[in-house]
Amino acid sequence: MNTIIETLQQLVGNPHVLTEDLDHYVTDWRKRAKGKALCVVRPGTTAEVAAVVRACGAAGVSIVPQGGNTGLVVGSIPDDSGTQVLLSLQRMNAVRAIDGQNLTITVEAGCVLQNLQTAAEEAGFLFPLSLGSEGSCTIGGNLSTNAGGTQVVRYGNTRELCLGLEVVTAEGDILNGLVGLRKDNTGYDLRDVFIGAEGTLGIITAATMKLYPMPAATLTAWAAVPGMTEAVAFLGLAHRYLGAGLTGFEVMNQFSLSLVDKHYPQLRVPLWKETPWCVLLENADSESEQHARERFEALLEAAMEAGCVTDAVVAGSMAQARNLWHIRESITLAQAEEGLNIKHDISIPISSIPEFVQVTDAELAANIPGARFVDFGHLGDGNLHYNVQAPEGEDFKAFQNQYEDRINDIVYQSVQRYGGSISAEHGVGELKVDRLPEHKDPVALDLMRRMKRAFDPRNTLNPGRVIRA
Ligand SMILES: Cc1cc2nc3c(=O)[nH]c(=O)nc-3n(C[C@H](O)[C@H](O)[C@H](O)COP(=O)(O)OP(=O)(O)OC[C@H]3O[C@@H](n4cnc5c(N)ncnc54)[C@H](O)[C@@H]3O)c2cc1C
Repeated sequence: MNTIIETLQQLVGNPHVLTEDLDHYVTDWRKRAKGKALCVVRPGTTAEVAAVVRACGAAGVSIVPQGGNTGLVVGSIPDDSGTQVLLSLQRMNAVRAIDGQNLTITVEAGCVLQNLQTAAEEAGFLFPLSLGSEGSCTIGGNLSTNAGGTQVVRYGNTRELCLGLEVVTAEGDILNGLVGLRKDNTGYDLRDVFIGAEGTLGIITAATMKLYPMPAATLTAWAAVPGMTEAVAFLGLAHRYLGAGLTGFEVMNQFSLSLVDKHYPQLRVPLWKETPWCVLLENADSESEQHARERFEALLEAAMEAGCVTDAVVAGSMAQARNLWHIRESITLAQAEEGLNIKHDISIPISSIPEFVQVTDAELAANIPGARFVDFGHLGDGNLHYNVQAPEGEDFKAFQNQYEDRINDIVYQSVQRYGGSISAEHGVGELKVDRLPEHKDPVALDLMRRMKRAFDPRNTLNPGRVIRA
């Protein structure tokens, strides 16, 4: 009788079933966890994915789908049993079609986000999803985590950018939902069920995504703000002055920028030394550069008059704008250079963020001596990356063993008090699966568990992630 590895070799070809040198596939991006795979299988077509799922189901072997392996909640690597098959979508990376009149692009799940952006741009359109990991993450991973990123304030999360999906179900059937329709009320929305499911309900093999017209001009500014209360007031002004032109509104605390300055001094972070917080904002204008500049200048003037902004620079060229975004996107990398840290990807109603930060900072400082706070995030979406770094020079492992649970308790209980979510955009994975029952409505959890059983009765797909079956 064939072993499952031999069966998979017959299905996708020997070169696409890997059993050696798997470190890259089984180690998570943060190097916080490392699993062990029976093998890595790299199908090249949807039919091959379906055949692999059927074979694994029949053999009682579970599957962990993987795109770019940039997820931050330990969801895309196998457990350490050595019995799971890791299914990489990397080879399925084609752009299948662009429909300029319907404003859609259809791509395979393994298409790297940056390549999707480029394909759209070459056709004269904007695909607005943008993340620090865009050079490696894939659209299948973005959909499966419902990724957010830096343009959500204008264009929404990945969910809002998706019109249709092709999915291989846990039974190995192919659901062809690659529609380019903006309206379709023919029953339950199955597309929305697979988005954000982190590979636990089906394997996304292709997607039809929305495209947008390119803006006529895009301007970027960097502003010093005296506190979080002023940052939120500044956001209100930005909505008022820029309307739908406001495409990004990011906040960064001084310590997070000091890490970028320390590890990437060539990026020359502006204004950070003189202010506790900086804001990076973007204005995309459909009229002209002059129109964009006038509106931006009016906003900054009003913000300075109101005392929300103490100083600001507007990028004078695309290169300068790119550098400002590069600084923001380098925070995750700079804190990784500094050492492991305890991450919280949280969302809070925007109006409560200043009080949340003040109260939670004080509680952590009182309980965790010397802890350093790397606070930054997508303020326009009420999403903070509220991370805690060990005291300078302290061994992270010792710090983690002593304080991780306490820190998480303090942060998550505070999030709950302010009506927030313990996972804004990164997902649940393995990292937060046991925290969910404490923070999610019990009826919602029960329905989620029943959905998992209905969609994946044998618990083949990414077991133990998101919800325990
Ligand atoms: C530097 C950096 C910056 C980041 N910035 C952001 C940010 O701004 N916003 C944000 O939301 N995230 C961010 N992330 C997190 C991460 O990049 C996103 O979660 C991304 O969407 C993951 O895509 P991926 O292809 O790497 O997925 P993976 O990490 O491979 O997988 C993520 C999850 O999706 C599942 N999965 C992957 N592909 C499929 C598929 N085809 N079908 C079914 N399930 C699948 C996996 O099993 C896993 O559960 C960042 C990460 C890094 C390293």
